[in-house]
Amino acid sequence: MQILFMKLEAIIDKELFLQIKKLLGKAGNGLLDFIYPPICVHCSTPIIKADGLCAKCWKELIPISEPLCPVLGLPFAVSLGSSVLSAQAIANPPEFDRARSAFIYNDITHSIISKLKYGDRPEMATFCAKIMAGAFAEILEDSPILVPVPLHPKRQRQRRYNQSTQLAKELGLLKGVKVAPMMVARVRETKQQVGLSAKMREKNVEGAFKVVSDLIEMNIEQRIVIVDDVMTTGATLNAVTKALKKAGYKKIDVISFARVVNGGEYII
Ligand SMILES: [Zn+2]
Repeated sequence: MQILFMKLEAIIDKELFLQIKKLLGKAGNGLLDFIYPPICVHCSTPIIKADGLCAKCWKELIPISEPLCPVLGLPFAVSLGSSVLSAQAIANPPEFDRARSAFIYNDITHSIISKLKYGDRPEMATFCAKIMAGAFAEILEDSPILVPVPLHPKRQRQRRYNQSTQLAKELGLLKGVKVAPMMVARVRETKQQVGLSAKMREKNVEGAFKVVSDLIEMNIEQRIVIVDDVMTTGATLNAVTKALKKAGYKKIDVISFARVVNGGEYII
């Protein structure tokens, strides 16, 4: 049997195995793990369960926790009291009420997000969502509606799925809250934000989003939580918030798996 699998591996590419996995469900997982033993998504060390990290890489994740800016969620070195805002939140107040991210964006979170975003591995969303569900217990209580940051239809066709929608759906399942993946649409194609300054990012996404439909009954009193994979300057999340506010929604928070905290050199 093992020889048969080795022969299969030689003639069938991984993409086909991913398709087989989808068709066979749990049996497919076993088959895939047998042929492609699970490895750490960052350093490729063998691990027990697929789509995760080895112990060494786990330790290198940097969780964002208190003390932090109550609005932007940026970590503070020392506690300044729960009402003290960061300089960024005072200088440039965001449209949303609160932003929270699970981890600081570093090499490890970069690997995880890249696999989720460009690696055609939507199942990575399960791993990320489990962490997010724990990290954002407070923001996710009282049944908000989860709204993923939409991709333009053209980009979604290229990538086959929207990573933010995958995260929102997994979070919705874990927390038992509603997800509205079609509520906001990206109505204008935008340039990739990579390499753009904060001002250019803002301009790039200005007016790019619109509330087009709502599969859930429209209730503008409902609190919304926008879901994204990475928050950099917050320009995209701000633009999505503006679209929701235009439609009448007032209570809007944003969450992301990782957050760029150094500013200046935007690497994503
Ligand atoms: Zn590792």
